[in-house]
Amino acid sequence: MSSPRKKALFKAVNTAPVIPTSADEVGRSAEDIFGRYVFGLATMRKRLPKDVFKKLAKTIRDGERLNPEIADVVANAMKDWAIENGATHYTHWFHPMTGLTAEKHDAFLSPTIDGQVISEFSGKMLISGEPDASSFPSGGIRSTFEARGYTAWDPSVPVFIIPAPYGATLHIPTYFYSYSGEALDRKIPLIRSISALSRQAMRILKLFGNTTASYVRANVGPEQEYFLVDKNLAALRPDLLMAGRTLIGATSPKGQEMEDHYFGSIPPRVMSFMQDLENELRSLGIPAKTRHNEVAPGQFEIAPVYEEANIACDHNMLCMNMMRHMAGKHGFVCLVHEKPFAGVNGSGKHNNWSISDSDGTNLLNPGSTPVDNAQFLVFLAAVLRAVHMHSAALRLGTVGAGNDHRLGANEAPPAILSVYLGEQLTDVLDTIVNGKGSKNKKSAVMEVGVSTLPPLPVDLSDRNRTSPFAFTGNKFEFRAVGSSQSVAPVNIALNAAVASALDDIATELEASVSAGTDLNTALQSLLPRLFKEHMPIVFNGNGYAESWAEEAARRGLPNYNNTVTALEHYSDPDVMNVFLRHGILTEREILSRQDILLENYSKTVCIEGNLLADMIRSSVLPPSMEAQTRAADAVIKTRAVLGDKGAASEEEYFNELRGHIVALQKGVTVLEKAVEKAQCTEGALEQAKAARDGILPAMAECRTHADALERLVEDSLWVLPKYAELLWAH
Ligand code: ADP
Ligand code: MG
Repeated sequence: MSSPRKKALFKAVNTAPVIPTSADEVGRSAEDIFGRYVFGLATMRKRLPKDVFKKLAKTIRDGERLNPEIADVVANAMKDWAIENGATHYTHWFHPMTGLTAEKHDAFLSPTIDGQVISEFSGKMLISGEPDASSFPSGGIRSTFEARGYTAWDPSVPVFIIPAPYGATLHIPTYFYSYSGEALDRKIPLIRSISALSRQAMRILKLFGNTTASYVRANVGPEQEYFLVDKNLAALRPDLLMAGRTLIGATSPKGQEMEDHYFGSIPPRVMSFMQDLENELRSLGIPAKTRHNEVAPGQFEIAPVYEEANIACDHNMLCMNMMRHMAGKHGFVCLVHEKPFAGVNGSGKHNNWSISDSDGTNLLNPGSTPVDNAQFLVFLAAVLRAVHMHSAALRLGTVGAGNDHRLGANEAPPAILSVYLGEQLTDVLDTIVNGKGSKNKKSAVMEVGVSTLPPLPVDLSDRNRTSPFAFTGNKFEFRAVGSSQSVAPVNIALNAAVASALDDIATELEASVSAGTDLNTALQSLLPRLFKEHMPIVFNGNGYAESWAEEAARRGLPNYNNTVTALEHYSDPDVMNVFLRHGILTEREILSRQDILLENYSKTVCIEGNLLADMIRSSVLPPSMEAQTRAADAVIKTRAVLGDKGAASEEEYFNELRGHIVALQKGVTVLEKAVEKAQCTEGALEQAKAARDGILPAMAECRTHADALERLVEDSLWVLPKYAELLWAH
């Protein structure tokens, strides 16, 4: 009888692609299906009385709360539309500090006096909710006696339906806050950071004489990497099911060294999954655009067209949810963990970020006239200042136990933040600072506001993949975010830091201009100073090189190479200040977030430690012991035939097995004790340190022996699916 592992493998390689349900739609143009499950402006216009529509549109545009007077009419129109589109329930959909999204469905149902039911959805139900929030992390903000959290509709993101079979539910994107009004989610600070950025950027636009723009927005395009593993095989790996990554597993004889997977032809089962997913996303109004194989076997990427930051963030969360659902349908498990497999690349999420004004002008576009150039240089200076002065705050957007396995591991950018500008642009800045470029000694003096920039190549990034923060022509690409992470934290920090830098710049320029200096002269004095001050953050070299860590230390750039160290600095006054300055987070909110993130780290590491100990005891040691018994038998039997000295190679094999078994038994005991110790440690920071310093090394030690045993033990005895099977059976 073949083992469950072999049966699963056989099933995996013999599974035919699942034809997408929406097969008839695969060939249909994106235009036809785009946003059909979204109650967007066009649908609102069609379904609402004119005056109500006008008021609602204004609410959406200005990010205001919905006027209760029109709420009932809006809610009723939404409900009718939702029911026509198959929805039976509604939910407030929010982003608690778990890092995931939360929902609680209620049916559109209300009993009548005569024992019947009618479908009902009132304005009050749309605008606000009071979910029992006692089980969501609050970091001490909410006392246990005040268990309620409050949700309120964020009208800047349209409501949408997740269709059957995934719920048939109307989703209302909402904020989530405590009784005392503090943010318990990631949407509130994101929105606050966007307004701060807008306010400060508008001051610069005004200085440049812009009279038409009314606000500035942040745009985000997140590239999402993920792995797909066959469900039959994944079912036999408790680590994949519970931790989202393998905790043990010997490297596959074939990994990514042939570089044959990247941009390779997409396996048919995966292709069907992607088509189904894209259709579903497009019907939810998510502009899914790019798909391809990534570097590691079994690794893929999906990228939407960029959207306004708040919407992009919601859409990315939704995208990850849909990826998980859709993977199940296609017989896969979708892994968005940062490092599911050792020895091959992990997954990141490149956060492409730019800012544009309400007229649609990208403020990070170099432009072609001296004035455009000057304005571009101001925004560029602001970004450099933001990253240089607030890199510790930005690093906080990438913290997490999973991402620690990736950052700095020669496949992902280092934990040290630096900015890649490319040679040409760096040369321009050198010219502004010194009057001459470093590369082009003859370049003329660059007079800001008078000279034009030399033509810059469109893709300045020159594919420097080692930089965590690269200028790519008209946007910055922040590459240190982990694949499982919400992009909200990184964009909150980025918007806050840039708002802060713009505030400094605008304050100085406004003072000069009001004292009678003309703008160009003021810029000519400010920009060289700013570029000089912040040049240490610019690094165009190889971020993977060891020498960079030393060089970065000389430049005074922080290197918080693990989550706990980075989080310890969350409460440093200069880190807090960037969030406090424009009211993006209050001190209580910051301290509670620090606690929540530390706890999340400790819990993740403790769970992984326990899980690994279980797997070793239940699935690694038993087959290894069996192999040891067989090896002992072989020694005895060979000796019987060839005499005591004749069984040397049998003994060698036995000793090798035995050595790893003994070490693993010892290792697993140490691991269990380390978990226990961490769990008993008081204080969020101390506990996280105990997890990092006690559990992680114990896990690594266990892994060494478990992986060695996987290689030594006869294949038919091994119960856990191996890397080769997980990575290559699609
Ligand atoms: P790459 O070559 O870096 O892998 P992709 O095509 O995978 O590029 O993804 C690039 C992402 O950057 C897309 O989501 C795209 O919409 C986004 N993007 C393009 N221009 C901007 C911009 N101005 N602001 C923000 N994001 C942008
Ligand atoms: Mg890409």
